[in-house]
Amino acid sequence: MSEILQTPIDYLKGVGPNRANLLRKELGIHTYQDLINLFPNRYIDRTQYYKINQLNRNNADVQIIGKITGFKEVAQKRGKRLVGTFQDETGTMELVWFRGQKWIRESIKVNKPYVIFGKTNWFSGKFSMPHPDMELLEDHKENLRSAMQPVYPSTEKLSNKGITNRVVSKIMQQLFIETGHKFKETLPNDLLSELKLIPKKEALFNVHFPKSLEWLSRAQFRLKFEELFYIQLQLIIKNLTNKAKIKGLPFENVGFYFNTFYKEHLPFQLTGAQKRVLKEIRSDLGSYAQMNRLLQGDVGSGKTIVALMSMLIALDNGFQACLMAPTEILSVQHYNGLLKYCKTLNISIEKLTGSTKTSDRKRIHENLENGDLKILIGTHALLEDKVKFKNLGLAIIDEQHRFGVAQRSKLWKKGPLQSSQKEGEKHSENTNGSHIPPHVLVMTATPIPRTLAMSVYGDLDISIIDELPPGRQSIKTVHRYDKNRLNVFKFIRDEISKGRQIYIVYPLIQENEKMDYKDLMDGYESISRDFPLPDYQISIVHGKMKPADKDYEMQRFIKGETQIMVATTVIEVGVNVPNASVMIIESAERFGLSQLHQLRGRVGRGAEQSYCILMTGHKLSNDSKTRLETMVRTSDGFEIAEVDLRLRGPGDIMGTQQSGVLNLKIADIIKDNDILNLARHHAKHILKNDPTLTALENQVILDTYKALGRYKNIWNYIS
Ligand code: ADP
Ligand code: MG
Repeated sequence: MSEILQTPIDYLKGVGPNRANLLRKELGIHTYQDLINLFPNRYIDRTQYYKINQLNRNNADVQIIGKITGFKEVAQKRGKRLVGTFQDETGTMELVWFRGQKWIRESIKVNKPYVIFGKTNWFSGKFSMPHPDMELLEDHKENLRSAMQPVYPSTEKLSNKGITNRVVSKIMQQLFIETGHKFKETLPNDLLSELKLIPKKEALFNVHFPKSLEWLSRAQFRLKFEELFYIQLQLIIKNLTNKAKIKGLPFENVGFYFNTFYKEHLPFQLTGAQKRVLKEIRSDLGSYAQMNRLLQGDVGSGKTIVALMSMLIALDNGFQACLMAPTEILSVQHYNGLLKYCKTLNISIEKLTGSTKTSDRKRIHENLENGDLKILIGTHALLEDKVKFKNLGLAIIDEQHRFGVAQRSKLWKKGPLQSSQKEGEKHSENTNGSHIPPHVLVMTATPIPRTLAMSVYGDLDISIIDELPPGRQSIKTVHRYDKNRLNVFKFIRDEISKGRQIYIVYPLIQENEKMDYKDLMDGYESISRDFPLPDYQISIVHGKMKPADKDYEMQRFIKGETQIMVATTVIEVGVNVPNASVMIIESAERFGLSQLHQLRGRVGRGAEQSYCILMTGHKLSNDSKTRLETMVRTSDGFEIAEVDLRLRGPGDIMGTQQSGVLNLKIADIIKDNDILNLARHHAKHILKNDPTLTALENQVILDTYKALGRYKNIWNYIS
């Protein structure tokens, strides 16, 4: 049976070479198997007919019987549109084609009864339907109607060339006829009966031709489960093989540095979550397998101290450690923050960024290679080939979303050479020795819903700091319109008089950098007027400044010499000034949710009540309103991430492009969360009892898994 599914689509009756080419190009359908996996996007009710005088202005899908009485061509800015007058006994409306006009004129018969289907528009007193799906009434009568008629994915090209939804439905029917419905089962019997899943062949039939709503939903459940099950299976297997294959540097001791710091220098009690995460990291580091861990923790949850203590474990075992951050400002801040602890512990630490002087650079390179330098903090500069460690044991990446997979793998190569090669060949530079990768800890404050993280970062283990340090006051967040600016300024003045500091942030969106820059400068000028010298000092930081100037302005603010920091989003990530208690975000409607959340996280770091004021103009899109309302309602990063995901879809979330998540054929990574969890649970359970899938009852899993592996569309995960 499986052979027939590999038949090229050209051979299916009713397809032919032209349609086959289009199906290949437009939808990636090469074989019968591909076609059967073309699942409907939605289902529509084709048992209902409307009269033209019953139409509502709600833009819903409707089905109408009537005839075209004539065509006209209407010139428009580019090209022309074809307009057909369509009428039934209750009124007239227009059918409109912007493309494929030749085909329409040749094939549509005037004054013959048709059934049209599509979405209606209401425009200057008239209903119209662009690109309707059309069928002669006499043909229409012959076909069975269903309240759940599938609507298949389509493209502009396909509909231009007449491969309408109806045509796809027809060839799908043909497929079931030719294959005789004989589809191989792809899940083991145990699982089917335990979860009450319907057999594969029933599921496939009912997803394309639902017998009833009940059957449709059982079919969808079964197919979604299967899809997510095999993805999870693949991710878990990959994770297990990585652990078995990739030798890690064993950090067996927790010694002087860690213990001394923990007992004598820890500036506060660790939260329960920090302790738990440290335990998870310690157990990874001691396991002889390479650690690849993602540490998620909301802004201000205290990831830095976890990073430091992990580095101390590396040092306790005689290794070096590095910490890479996405911006100069953040690297400098990490460096300054860690410097005092390193001094008390007598640990050598340096920072390396784009603006490090050549002489310093040289010294750092040397000390890294001879092992005198233990901890290196920096930006991408750490990735340069010239940066060679004597024995890098742990690499930490802060704020993952600015770094890609490629950069992670560059760090891997900075680990020490395998010991056998090291002893055998003194000058290993020009040999192709393999490196033992350092342990890798990736830290991010952009929370991703856990299930999505599991799918996207299947190759990483995940730790979560889900608890903020005690005594944090929640940040009061409000939304204000530009016209209330005077009140906002008064509020700023009051806060400054209490000794607080203020951030005012302007959007910086690449496409319109010039305008953004102008907004920033205009804003700066007007703020300088309202907060004049010598009573007020204002810092300004933006992307076009030299790093040294940025640093100077930043330092003035950190030291409290300036009360107001006017900035673009360069301060988004990681800046820590506890005395700053007010965050004003200008044109807040132009920021994404995760950015807003990051920015708000810059305040609320000290003991004082903090505020976040979202300034916007009056006109707001629905999405902007939802974003602002969400910010005002909650400060839970995970909740915010869920809303963000809903608004934007998973496509924009870091890493999803490279993962299989977007290639899902039927499941929805957001809506089908529960099924995902169920699938993951069962995949784990099965692999636990039978890691090689050799048991007889798992034969079907192994076969399906192997077949999917050859099926290129599904398995292009992060390598
Ligand atoms: P983030 O997770 O955003 O990187 P940081 O590591 O910068 O957060 O920590 C934010 C602030 O909280 C810092 O000032 C840090 O010293 C403080 N902090 C971290 N952990 C604790 C704790 N357990 N108790 C009290 N304060 C803490
Ligand atoms: Mg941080």
